[in-house]
Amino acid sequence: MQQRQYKVLAIETSCDDTCVALLDRTEGDVKLVQHIKSTLDSVEQGGIVPTRAFDHHQRSIARITRELIDHNGLQQQPPDLLCVTRGPGMKGSLSIGLDFAKGLAAAWRRPLVGVHHMLGHLLTPRFETNGQTPSFPFLTLLISGGHTMLVLSNSLLDHEVLCESIDVACGDALDKCARELGLKGNNLGRELELFVQDNEAQWRTQEWHVPTPLYNKRGRVDLTAFAFGAFQGYVRKVMDQPGFNDTMIPSLGYQIQRGIFQHVVDKVELTMEKNYDKIKGCTHFVASGGVASNSWLRRTLDETFHKRGMTTSYPQVELCTDNAVMIGWAGIELYEHGLTTNLDVSPISRWPMAEITKVDGWVKE
Ligand code: AMP
Ligand code: ZN
Repeated sequence: MQQRQYKVLAIETSCDDTCVALLDRTEGDVKLVQHIKSTLDSVEQGGIVPTRAFDHHQRSIARITRELIDHNGLQQQPPDLLCVTRGPGMKGSLSIGLDFAKGLAAAWRRPLVGVHHMLGHLLTPRFETNGQTPSFPFLTLLISGGHTMLVLSNSLLDHEVLCESIDVACGDALDKCARELGLKGNNLGRELELFVQDNEAQWRTQEWHVPTPLYNKRGRVDLTAFAFGAFQGYVRKVMDQPGFNDTMIPSLGYQIQRGIFQHVVDKVELTMEKNYDKIKGCTHFVASGGVASNSWLRRTLDETFHKRGMTTSYPQVELCTDNAVMIGWAGIELYEHGLTTNLDVSPISRWPMAEITKVDGWVKE
């Protein structure tokens, strides 16, 4: 459907953030009208417990959606399109948002688009430029609490994962290391960034032998993959050693963050070299996902890509972490490509990027 003026209600519940957004599609423009986000507090638990996340979505979704409806007079004039994260993510969490969106679509008799969560992250910079840049093909590093992958996007529906983590995600490793170091908070990657910034003068006091995963091992030297599992174990081992004391924590924290990001950048560079022919048409690099808000990482990626003559962009921090705005935008791109989703679909917890349209439920105009 190529109607060019419509309102979109978008919902995201794939992990621990319950989010709703209202977007306004006008001729040549998409504007965010309102975004409401409610994040599960996991400080005490030290990590996301899936049943608690499910409970949180169940308690929050109707309340924040009603707030959005009331604030924008949607009871008089319902939105024209519903967009919702269908996967990947935690099945229980996904089902709350998907079922709720299906209910609204049924009640208002509006079309629904079931969006791939990572496609949302990946297309966010295009929302910020109204679909102008980056144009396809482009490269994206999706780096979050659940994913670490370098993706080559040839078109809206053609994405190839060139490099991904063989164990935990980068954000997960940062969170676990920060917790071992004694930091507290809901966003431990951010806490670690602030902590090492505050302690910059102290980081040189000691040299640590931070792991360099997938290097110097027979048959693994050239592996185009990320691996972050070793970092947490290293931090724990060092902190358990006799003689370790709290004054050493800032230098260890700094070097762990640097080691993790150096690994990311080294593997991105290696992957680009190994895929030279495939990516030579790309002039634009994007990093998105919660970890992409880290300034050390952005600085290092800028250096890496600018020396290759490529443009870099990073979504604003609020759009780097999980949000419903990206789901609304990706839904608009899919909808204007002629795709909607049946009302009888269920969530997809594992949904490879290369298989966005290879799942049931799509309706092609
Ligand atoms: P997401 O999964 O996209 O919601 O992002 C959450 C992940 O991003 C968590 O693992 C956070 O620790 C991480 N994160 C958020 N902000 C930062 C930051 N400034 N530096 C490093 N990691 C961050
Ligand atoms: Zn995400």
